Amino acid sequence: MARLSLKEKKELALKLISTLEQTYPNLEMTLKYSDAWELLVGGILGAQTTDEQVNRVTKILFVDYPTVYDFAAASLDQITKAIRTVGLYRNKAKFLHGSAKIIVDKYDGIVPQAREDLLSLPGVGPKVASLVRGDYYKIPAVVVDTHCGRISRLLGLATKTDPRDIELELMKVLPENDWIRWGHFMVTHGREYCKARCRNCLICPLAELCRYPKHKKVQKELIAARQQNQEDGCF
Ligand code: SF4
Repeated sequence: MARLSLKEKKELALKLISTLEQTYPNLEMTLKYSDAWELLVGGILGAQTTDEQVNRVTKILFVDYPTVYDFAAASLDQITKAIRTVGLYRNKAKFLHGSAKIIVDKYDGIVPQAREDLLSLPGVGPKVASLVRGDYYKIPAVVVDTHCGRISRLLGLATKTDPRDIELELMKVLPENDWIRWGHFMVTHGREYCKARCRNCLICPLAELCRYPKHKKVQKELIAARQQNQEDGCF
């Protein structure tokens, strides 16, 4: 299937955003936080862990350690114990402890806004840096997690696999004032219709626009699934 031109991608992006707005009128971020540090903590803890699991842990964590200064003053062992129910907790504890110390020592306790400064913190990659810049500081940025990268590729807006490359591709085709919410749209859509192992193209509101169902092989599968559903009386 021929690749879309930049102009076609921009047109497609506008149509997708319009449909996503109608589909998810009450779009919300699932991570709970009250300041930039808490969002950074949620982002670091969120690697290979669900937002719900992160929220369960941070609900207690932020009571025991209310500020970045409390994280910096705590021992690594204390933080490790406090987050032990999260996957990869030993590494994440080192990241949180290291980041807190740098933020206290170098940035007077304030989470930096500059991308380079954020990326210099332990455990902070492009995704978490964009998350903090976009959702807290409201600096336009596209958060590319696995959902966003995968679905943006299926939709036809991205072609790369590296998250930073995908972010740059999306920044070229999405209107700047939609950069921040695009990531949230993709996470929500991934949860509702487009799971990694189970794409629900038959009932997906983006199916008419999405490039994935237009692949010949996929079309055959969809037609067969539709016939089966009719035979089974599903709809
Ligand atoms: S049509 Fe299928 S592949 Fe495209 S977004 Fe929807 S579920 Fe995902």
